[in-house]
Parts: sequence; structure tokens; C-alpha cells
Amino acid sequence: MNNIHIAIDGPAGAGKGTVAKELAEKLNLTYLDTGAMYRCVACAAKMAGVKSYDNDSLGKILDDIDITFADSGKKVFLNGEDVTEKIRTREVDDLVGGVSGNKFVRERLVAMQRKYAEGNNIVMEGRDIGTVVLKDSPYKFYLDASVDERAKRRYEQNIKNNIECTLEAVKADIIRRDERDMNREADPLTRTEDALYIDSSDLTVDEVCDVIIAHIGKIKRGEK
Ligand code: C5P
Repeated sequence: MNNIHIAIDGPAGAGKGTVAKELAEKLNLTYLDTGAMYRCVACAAKMAGVKSYDNDSLGKILDDIDITFADSGKKVFLNGEDVTEKIRTREVDDLVGGVSGNKFVRERLVAMQRKYAEGNNIVMEGRDIGTVVLKDSPYKFYLDASVDERAKRRYEQNIKNNIECTLEAVKADIIRRDERDMNREADPLTRTEDALYIDSSDLTVDEVCDVIIAHIGKIKRGEK
């Protein structure tokens, strides 16, 4: 039997992580937060004092990097250190775009992500999952929400995690990051025809999961 590979893409703060974790629990899937992997590379570059994101410097970082997950994908380890909180700081928010725009970094991380998917039932979330990483999967979703709603969610999440911020700053950061992710040359975030578009502005996490599960059911029954 073929493995189930679910791809969820969308802009920052659309709730991809929360939905993917919930789906993983409901459907007994492995969960992979690909954004955390780009954040780990940015964090490792920062710790190594790398300022210029050229292929040589980033290549050295990638050669030495070991990214692992625990607690059903919720905890992130970089070379053995728990960086779950460290990778969510505003500083890493600022740095990650420089790393994720690098083609060479993307190739390496995409290869790692495909390895995770091999022989596994998995739900992956990010920016290029349906278009690149799991492009042959039939189960693709583009999760969106209004920018105000996304900013509000990210702000509340930060407060819960003791990350100091203001709603205005979070909104400005989301807009800047989306702009960069959608307009970069290497694997930009794109909404494609073959992904089911879900606007989650007025939906609960459970409701979004229901839409996704129903859509997968239709595809399996050959109705889509
Ligand atoms: O999802 P999250 O906000 O943690 O992702 C952080 C950054 O990593 C994004 O803004 C984007 O630049 C990059 N990313 C990416 N491709 C992915 C996942 C994340 O370029 N598949």
C-alpha cells in the first residue's frame, strides 16, 4: 500500500503547524515542521558567526548539522541541543529568509525532508511541500487566513511562549516574510491549482482538519 503524504503550504501564521500536529495525532502520521529546519540552519549560522550566506559558508554549516525531532515532532534539536524556543526568536525570524532563499540550502534540506517521507505516513508543512518536496502526492493543501488574523494568532502564540513582542511588530514581520517567501527565485511560496485552498480565518483547528480529512477521503474514493 502507498504511504500517505500530506502537504500543507501557506504563509506565516496561517496555522499550518497547529493543524499539521492535530492531523498527525488524528491520523497517526509523522509530523515534520520544515520551517524549523530552515530556522535551525539560520541558528547554526548565527552561532558559528557566519555573516555572509554564500554557498561555501552555508555548505560548512550544512555538513556539520544534525537536526532531530522529539515529542511527535514538537521538540527540535540542533546538534543535540534543544532549540525549540531558540529558533522562534525575532532574531531568527529576521535571519531565516536569507538562508531559505539560498538554492543550495534548499536542495540539501529538501533531500533530508524526502528521506523523512520515505516509507512513512507523514504530514509536512512549509512553503514548497506541494510544489517541490512532495510534488507527486495527491494530498495537497494551501492554508491561508487574513493577515490580521494571522498576526493575532502568531502574537498570542508568542505571548504564550514568553516571547516579547507587539501585535504591530508581529504583523509587520509576517508581511515582510511573506513578501520575501513569495517573491524569491528559489522555490517560492505559490498557491497552485492542485492544492485545496482553505481560508482558516473563521475556522477552528478541528474544522480545518475535518475539511482536510474529507478531501483526502474524496481523493481516495476517486471523487476528485
Ligand atoms: O514555517 P516557519 O515560519 O517556521 O518558516 C520559517 C521560514 O522558513 C519561512 O519564512 C521561509 O522563509 C522558510 N521556509 C521555506 N520553505 C519551507 C519552510 C520554511 O522556505 N518549506
